[in-house]
Amino acid sequence: MRSRVSRRKFLGAALAGTAALKLHAGAVPTLVAQPPEQGRLALLGGAPVRTEPFPSWPKIAENDEKAWSEVLHKGLWCRLDGSYAKRFEEAWAGRLGAKFCLATASGTTALFTSLHALGIGPGDEVLVPPYTFVATVNVVFLVHALPIFVDTDRETFQIDADKIEAAITPRTKCLLPVHLGGAPADMDKILAIARKRRLPVLEDACQAHLGEWRNRKLSTLGELGCFSFQASKNLNSGEGGAILTNDENLYRACESFHTNGRGDASYDFHYVRNGCNHRMTEFQAALLLAQMDRLEEQSRRREENARYLTQLLREIPGIAPARAYEGCTRNAYHLYMFRYDKGHFADLPRARFLEALKAEGIPCSGGYAPLNKEPFVKNTLDSRAYRAIYSPPEVAAYEARNHCPENDRLCEEAVWFFQTMLLGPRGDMDQIAAAIRKIHRQGGQLASS
Ligand SMILES: *Cc1c(COP(=O)(O)O)cnc(C)c1O
Repeated sequence: MRSRVSRRKFLGAALAGTAALKLHAGAVPTLVAQPPEQGRLALLGGAPVRTEPFPSWPKIAENDEKAWSEVLHKGLWCRLDGSYAKRFEEAWAGRLGAKFCLATASGTTALFTSLHALGIGPGDEVLVPPYTFVATVNVVFLVHALPIFVDTDRETFQIDADKIEAAITPRTKCLLPVHLGGAPADMDKILAIARKRRLPVLEDACQAHLGEWRNRKLSTLGELGCFSFQASKNLNSGEGGAILTNDENLYRACESFHTNGRGDASYDFHYVRNGCNHRMTEFQAALLLAQMDRLEEQSRRREENARYLTQLLREIPGIAPARAYEGCTRNAYHLYMFRYDKGHFADLPRARFLEALKAEGIPCSGGYAPLNKEPFVKNTLDSRAYRAIYSPPEVAAYEARNHCPENDRLCEEAVWFFQTMLLGPRGDMDQIAAAIRKIHRQGGQLASS
């Protein structure tokens, strides 16, 4: 049923293309439908390759509504009163094969809580990739430590594990790799370095729900692993997060910190540490429980579509889909990422390529800017708190180390598609590839326009 509907949509889009061609030719109707990449570029007034929207997000089902209204009517909206957060933690830990899971208010607070549990603080250095969402780095600054940027492996978009050892100093207290886009960082190398240098690994798996490294779920390989359930993520409760660990002491420390430093999960007025309130609500937990059923099927579809799309895009000169490391047994595909080489597109700048692709009906993004060069880094180092902790020579030494040339280059070449674009029928992938081929063939007209 689903495939019949989508085929009709696909034909509809192809016919719309033909009709527009006719309009521009100004005369005789074309009887044979042209392959969509043959027409004029949409940016130059031609018919777009695609006119249908891609699948919407989130996907809402009946059990979401049931779960939500159950919590509503029970009137137990806080996890200290209800049971949904606990149930979600058990289910998510079980799904990932971890001993402990702590639900949190967001991915950011999951990472922040984890750094507290590891005792990271002033004077410490934490190794991070520059190619990530800002939260990975913000949390390091929030505990008054220094994020040390390790350059990116441009082929995979991940932290370059071969550059980690050179960045380690006696002050290094934690490795914080990110599984960017849902594909694993090179965990064999990262875990080997961590073992050798006796450093804990905190995995930022905020984009990597159900992703795997050698058949083990991402977030369960290091001491701690964190997820986000923010609205854009592959598992979504609007906001939300989780910490996974197999270490009971770390779990206890996280749990205590996230509920105001209490000694246990109650309303008791006794506190054993400085803490915060980063608890997940029962509403969020109920929504997550309801959606977990769908996650497996959706993940499988993303992977199938992504694999097919990669085959198609590899055939186009100047398009290099992100390579996954050999140990990747499952890619969560929160993002579909590739590098764009304008040299194969008549020197069409990436910004213009993105415009052209959007005009063809294919949403896309140029992704992150170099995070290590964003003003917040310098401004934080200039803050009163940081000046109280770090001397001017220490700050100067930090700034002298802060160079990631490979990442700078990647930020100019990257193109992203979003996970929701991988949730439709395979024909959607054909259209994405057709749009890129069309620009490849005719981009020269834009370069000169
Ligand atoms: C989304 C995300 C976060 C932060 O999660 P929030 O839930 O938005 O706080 C952290 N790291 C990465 C890589 C992310 O993509």
